[in-house]
Amino acid sequence: MAKYIFITGGVVSSLGKGVAAAGCGALLQSRGYTVHARKFDPYLNIDPGTMSPFQHGEVYVTNDGYETDLDLGYYERFLGAKLSRNDSVSGGRIYWDVLNAERRGDYLGGTVQMIPHVSNKIKEYISAPSDTDFVVCEIGGTVGDIEGKIFLESIRQFANDVGRRNVMFIHLTLAPYLEKSGELKTKPTQMSVRQLLENGIQSDMLIVRTPRMLTADERSKIGMFCNLPAKSVISGIDVDNIYKIPLAYEAQHVFDIIADHFGLPNARGDMSRFERIEKYLGDDIPSVTIGVVGKYFDVPDAYKSLNEALFHAGIQNNVHVKLKKISAENFTNEDCADVDGILVPGGFGARGVEGKIAAAGYARINKVPYMGICLGMQVAVIDFARNVLGIADADSSEFNKKCTPVIGIMSDHDSENMGGTLRLGAYPCVITAGSRAHEIYGTENISERHRHRYEMDISLEQKFADAGMIISGRSPDGKLPEIVELRDHPFFVAGQFHPEFQSSPYTGHPMFNAFIAAAVKHKH
Ligand code: GLN
Repeated sequence: MAKYIFITGGVVSSLGKGVAAAGCGALLQSRGYTVHARKFDPYLNIDPGTMSPFQHGEVYVTNDGYETDLDLGYYERFLGAKLSRNDSVSGGRIYWDVLNAERRGDYLGGTVQMIPHVSNKIKEYISAPSDTDFVVCEIGGTVGDIEGKIFLESIRQFANDVGRRNVMFIHLTLAPYLEKSGELKTKPTQMSVRQLLENGIQSDMLIVRTPRMLTADERSKIGMFCNLPAKSVISGIDVDNIYKIPLAYEAQHVFDIIADHFGLPNARGDMSRFERIEKYLGDDIPSVTIGVVGKYFDVPDAYKSLNEALFHAGIQNNVHVKLKKISAENFTNEDCADVDGILVPGGFGARGVEGKIAAAGYARINKVPYMGICLGMQVAVIDFARNVLGIADADSSEFNKKCTPVIGIMSDHDSENMGGTLRLGAYPCVITAGSRAHEIYGTENISERHRHRYEMDISLEQKFADAGMIISGRSPDGKLPEIVELRDHPFFVAGQFHPEFQSSPYTGHPMFNAFIAAAVKHKH
């Protein structure tokens, strides 16, 4: 049976529970244990797909096409875990399941109650089979939230069901620093731990977010108030890069605390994959500048996975990657004068699209490395149709109903699998042998994640190819273009999918790695 680590948060929200949970998982992995992750969000939305990116940052997409919030991305990146719709569960979904069961008569006319019906449903999701040694479960929100109560109750029961030895509770809190008195205050942490105790949960380890390391005195004081040995009170020190967190935990022997709790042998871990990143961050090495032509720059984390993927590719190429945010809405060629590569990311709606088309055209003509993601592929196709093939009104039917739609809705394709109207999740793609894409991926069969509605019209393939833009990846049935590239260009590759969702800090992603390599070449 898997062992469970529950991560809760107290005092304030946004303490970084997801990263803390992933960091603990990484320590376990470094000792050879396998780790899965799950996230429970007490809010009432049924899934995060409908939530505004202005509140939540990017919509992350799993292989099975579930639209989740970006925390799931941390788990996949840090742990290499492949998560699915059952690993991102909201309060709304739990109630929806329970109420639908009630309507179907599954409860045989019994009174439906928070306990046991809702709590049992939560426990069902927690304990879904996982074939890993550990399942790390993050409970979203902050202790004390009304929506969260039933989740705390459920994890309390769960620990009782499977045995306290098989469950560890880690609580993340904050110790504010008072500038005037020069003190770190521990009271909010004490209060938060007490609030958990009111729900029957004794924390087994505390990670206290602080601007500096806790002193030995502070740790024993917190431990004394919170029923914990001082060694189980960890400083969750602020770091400038999240990949330093596992090393910060390692230095404080977090693995040993976890191992002691579960009765596992203490062991040294192989932390080299994080040490490598730490070293890279401190290295005085050259940099390249990538112009990202987008329109969601005001939303924090709107391009979270994209930024990560560029960072990962920098590690692989041993260069620092600087981002230049270029607003698509008032794009001019001068914006690209000082960049080593141009990237047009995904996007929806007509606003800013002409700027993105212009950016793709600039990269094509000036032989600047270009990478297009989803909409970034569509604009490259539109530019090529207009300015090389001379189809003056070429466009996507998303933006102009009366255009010549080189991008449009291919309604006969697989529509029953398209989750409403978007094509979502992982789809296979077959790469043409001998193409640039083939060189990049090193294989002819790949799988990448999608989140879009429109597709390039494949009937135009020959016309495009004759003029120099080839379709080098397509759906196995041959109907949907998945990758386009320019034949006579140092690097111009665009995919209808979102490769950033599969980039790993340890290996990067083939397309991003190749793009950054091309940018390095361009710079010289
Ligand atoms: N808006 C485009 C579509 O729906 C592209 C979507 C995207 O970039 N994710 O096809």
